[in-house]
Amino acid sequence: LPNLGLLKRAITDYHDSGRWEADIAIIANEAMMYLNGLDPTGKKMAVVFDIDETSLSNWPTIKTDDYGYISKDFNDWVNKAEAPAIIPVRDLYQFARKKGFATFFVTGRPESQRGVTEKNLKSGGYSDWDKLFMKPDDYHEPSVVPYKSGARREITQSGFRIVVNIGDQESDLQGGWSDRTFKVPNPAYFIP
Ligand SMILES: [Mg+2]
Repeated sequence: LPNLGLLKRAITDYHDSGRWEADIAIIANEAMMYLNGLDPTGKKMAVVFDIDETSLSNWPTIKTDDYGYISKDFNDWVNKAEAPAIIPVRDLYQFARKKGFATFFVTGRPESQRGVTEKNLKSGGYSDWDKLFMKPDDYHEPSVVPYKSGARREITQSGFRIVVNIGDQESDLQGGWSDRTFKVPNPAYFIP
């Protein structure tokens, strides 16, 4: 088995060297090229974005807590609404808006953090989304897949075709209701 201390160092170097963001950019650019080949005019085509470690980076608190998830620290961080935008994904978002795609956020953040999340998205350069789905405060399933795929089903049943779904966790992407899925890397944590 690999050594945990060495893995942490390798992940920190992956971030600090810029390779993490470069790998995200490769995926975001693939999604952008796919959108570029579509014409959403009059077709209600949509792109779905995850938020944490896809649209916004929580790197400062991940690093401070040395990869150990401490819910109080993480919530304090989220409530500051200072998470920086992940630039290649923000570029994808702005490209999608400009081209006439609808945009949706589907996040595992709880409904109680809606205000700070909206504030952070806007300050990060994301605006004019069609709807922001947040996890209900009474959701207690062991996996986010039923919630996230259910949100995509709801988007689809309201008349949109989800052409792209992008996230950093497999659980962002499983469960269908999108033509294409795009997985950006996140070696720092796992959400079932
Ligand atoms: Mg995420």
